[in-house]
Amino acid sequence: MTMDQANIVIVGGGVVGCAIARALSMRWDDVFLLEALPRIGMLTSTRNSGVIHSGIYYPPSSLKAQHCVRGNQLTYEFCATNGVPYRKIGKIVVASSNGEMKDLTALMENGRTNGVEGLRIIDSRAIRAREPHVEGVSALEVPSTGILSSEEFVKTHARLATGRGAHIVTNARVERLESARNTIRVFSAVGEIETRCLVNSAGLFADEVAALLGSKMAQHRIYPVRGEYCELTRDKQDLVRGLVYPLPHADGLSLGVHLTKTLWGSVLVGPTARYVTDKNDYERDREPVEYFATLAKRLLPSVVASDFIPAYSGIRPKLVPPPDSSAAAAKATGMADFIIQPDPDFPRAIHLIGIESPGLTSAPSIAEHVTRLVGEVLA
Ligand SMILES: Cc1cc2nc3c(=O)[nH]c(=O)nc-3n(C[C@H](O)[C@H](O)[C@H](O)COP(=O)(O)OP(=O)(O)OC[C@H]3O[C@@H](n4cnc5c(N)ncnc54)[C@H](O)[C@@H]3O)c2cc1C
Repeated sequence: MTMDQANIVIVGGGVVGCAIARALSMRWDDVFLLEALPRIGMLTSTRNSGVIHSGIYYPPSSLKAQHCVRGNQLTYEFCATNGVPYRKIGKIVVASSNGEMKDLTALMENGRTNGVEGLRIIDSRAIRAREPHVEGVSALEVPSTGILSSEEFVKTHARLATGRGAHIVTNARVERLESARNTIRVFSAVGEIETRCLVNSAGLFADEVAALLGSKMAQHRIYPVRGEYCELTRDKQDLVRGLVYPLPHADGLSLGVHLTKTLWGSVLVGPTARYVTDKNDYERDREPVEYFATLAKRLLPSVVASDFIPAYSGIRPKLVPPPDSSAAAAKATGMADFIIQPDPDFPRAIHLIGIESPGLTSAPSIAEHVTRLVGEVLA
C-alpha cells in the first residue's frame, strides 16, 4: 500500500488547526488537516464565550499577550472580510467594592503595557448609563473587546483552507506517529500519510499526541478544567446590554463568571471553573442554578435562581495542575503561557500545548507564528 505524501499534516481541526491550515495553504501545497471527530470545531472551539478578547489580562511579553493583542486586530479584519458575524461592543470589568480599585487600576496598567488601546476607568454613574442593572463602584472600560460566532469563525477558516487546496479530513483520529529520517509517518483512522512537517494542535489532547511521537513535550500534561454556563431566561435578557466581567480570579484559573450578551440576544452567565478527571466529561455533577445566581448577584443584584437555565459547557486545556495535587507542589501555579514550539528531539514536529483562553481570539496570530516555524522546518 502506498502512503500519501504531505508537506504538512496538522492534527486537530479546532479553530487553531483550521486557522493554521488556512495560513499554510496560502504558501504550501499538500497540506492535510486530520480531525478525529465527524465535524471540525466540535470541542473547545465552539464551547466557549465567543469573546474577542483585548489582551488586558496576560503578563507582558507572554505569548498570550502577544497573540491576543495581534489576534484581536486580525480577528476583526478576518470577520469583516469574510462575512463572519461579529460585533465590537466593548466590555466593562467591574470593581464591586473600593477594596478592588487597586486591582482594577493594575489591570488597566497591565493592558496598557500590552498595547491595548482606549482603556479608562469609569465611575458608578457611567456604569449605570451603560448597564442600568449592573452594580459596581467603578469599572474598567475596554472598547476593543467584542463577540463573534465561533462556529462561523472555525468554518470560514476551514473553507478558505480547502479553497486553497488543503485537504481537511474528518473521522480521522491520529492513532500512531513514527519518526523516520526526514519525515514523520502519521497513522490515522483513515490511512497513512508521510509528512515533512507535523503540527500538533490537538487541543485538550495535545499532550497525548506528543506522547504518540515518544516526545518529551508530553511532560506538559494537560489538566481539564470544565467551564459551565447558564443562560438568563428570555424575560430577563434585557437586564444585560453588553459584556460585564468581575475582576479575574487571583489564582489565574479563569476570568470569573461573567455576563455575555450574545449575537443572538441571549445572555450567557459563566463559565465556572472546576478541575475534572475526564477530558470528555462535560455534564457530570453540574453546578445548580443557585450557584450561578450567587455569583451573578454581585454584578446583577436583581437576579434570582429561577432566572437561570443550564446551558452548555466547555473544557479548558490547563497546564497548571489542581492546587491540592502532588504535581502542584512540584510546579509553579498561576497563569501558564501557551506552548508553541518545535520538538527538541523531533524537529519536524511543532507542538501547540495549553491553548486555553484567549485561544479563539489568538488563532489568526498563532497561525502566523506557526507559519514562520513551518517555514524553518521546510527550508
Ligand atoms: C469555557 C471556555 C470559554 C472560553 N472562552 C473564550 C473566549 O471567549 N475567547 C477566547 O479567545 N477564547 C476562549 N476560550 C478558549 C478557546 O476556546 C480555545 O483556546 C480554543 O478553542 C482552542 O482551540 P484548539 O483548536 O486549540 O482546540 P480544540 O477546539 O479543542 O480543537 C482540537 C481538535 O483536535 C482534535 N483532536 C484531538 N486529538 C486528535 C487526534 N489524535 N487526531 C485527530 N484529531 C484530534 C479534537 O477532536 C478537536 O477537534 C474558552 C475556552 C473555554 C473552555
